[in-house]
Amino acid sequence: MIKEFAQGLWITFKHMLPGNSTTVQYPRVERLPTAERFRGLHRLVPAQDREKCVACYLCPTVCPAKCITVESGENEKGEKYPVVYKIDLLRCIFCGYCVEACPVEAIEMTGEYELANYSRDDFTYEKQRLLR
Ligand code: SF4
Ligand code: SF4
Repeated sequence: MIKEFAQGLWITFKHMLPGNSTTVQYPRVERLPTAERFRGLHRLVPAQDREKCVACYLCPTVCPAKCITVESGENEKGEKYPVVYKIDLLRCIFCGYCVEACPVEAIEMTGEYELANYSRDDFTYEKQRLLR
């Protein structure tokens, strides 16, 4: 009985020693790195003077949550581009299908996971915000 009690205490004290802690002082002191395949906030990939996206509508088509809105337009060179591109993160399930479907690798998912906001409207990420 005393032996088991001592063993339990030892496990507790062991975790208090430096280097043995299983918790981190997030967010003030430490932020753990995310895994390479972690699916966080989306990012539209820029390309020279514009975004890489060619407004092909594949990502809104495959999106199971139907949270991507794309409206296409044509620039002066006759190239298609998204006049409107937005993602409603309140509906997104971070499945990554949009990234897989994109034929020109114009959208990717970053390691950003701190997505808290005060207003519902702020969860709709528009093109300029996604290009950052
Ligand atoms: S991660 Fe999935 S749910 Fe979110 S926008 Fe992309 S396809 Fe839609
Ligand atoms: S992000 Fe890719 S899949 Fe989505 S509309 Fe643009 S080019 Fe098409």
